[in-house]
Amino acid sequence: GTFADLGLSPALTRAAGIRGLIVPTAIQVAAIPAVLRGQDVLGRAQTGSGKTAAYVLPLLQRLTSARSETPRRLRALMLAPTRELAVQIGELVQAIARTLPQPIKTVIAYGGISVNPQMMDLRGGADVVIATPGRLLDLLDRNALKLDDVQMLVLDEADRLLDLGFADELRRILSRLPAFRQSLLFSATFADEVLALADQLLMNPTRIDV
Ligand code: AMP
Repeated sequence: GTFADLGLSPALTRAAGIRGLIVPTAIQVAAIPAVLRGQDVLGRAQTGSGKTAAYVLPLLQRLTSARSETPRRLRALMLAPTRELAVQIGELVQAIARTLPQPIKTVIAYGGISVNPQMMDLRGGADVVIATPGRLLDLLDRNALKLDDVQMLVLDEADRLLDLGFADELRRILSRLPAFRQSLLFSATFADEVLALADQLLMNPTRIDV
C-alpha cells in the first residue's frame, strides 16, 4: 500500500515522500484513515513504530483542507512529556508544513529555558503548538496563547506524561479545551492510569494496538 491508498492527499503524500516515507508502517495504516475521518484514536505504539507521522500527516491534511479557516488560530495542540519529543514532533510538523501551499505557523514550547523567546514566537498566533504540559500552562497564565479554537488534540507518550507527574497539569489543560474536538492518545502501554485518562479524553475512540 501507499499513503495515497490511506486517503492522504497528493500534497501530503508528496510531502511524506520527500521525508523518505513511502510505504506506511502498521500504525500508519491503522491510524491515518481514522484520523482523516475525524475519529478519536487510542493507540498503543512504541517509539520507532512511525507513530509521529501516523498523526502528523492526517492532522495537517485536516488543518489545510478547511480553506475558510482563519489562519493563525491555534487549532492543533500536541502535548509531549519531554523537550526531546516535543522538538522531534515539531521538526516533523515543520518539515511537512514547509512543503504545503498554505502557510502553517508552528511553535514548539518546552520548559527549562527562558519563556520570552517562546512568547515572542507566539505573538501574532500559531496554527499548531507542540508543548510540554508545564510550559503550556505557564504560557496560558501569561496570556501568550488561548485554547478556545483547538479542534485537534494529541497526547503523545501518555504513559510517560503520567509517570513524570503531569496528571494535574493535564487536567488543568483539558479543562480549558473546547469539548467539541478530535483527540488522539498514544502510549507505549495501556496501564490503568492511561486508560482512565483516555476515558476522560476520548469519545468513542478507534483503538489501535500494533
Ligand atoms: P517514530 O516512531 O514516530 O518515532 O518514528 C521512528 C522513525 O521511523 C523516524 O525516523 C521516522 O522518520 C521513521 N519512519 C516513520 N514512518 C516511516 C515510513 N513509513 N517509512 C520509513 N520510515 C518511517
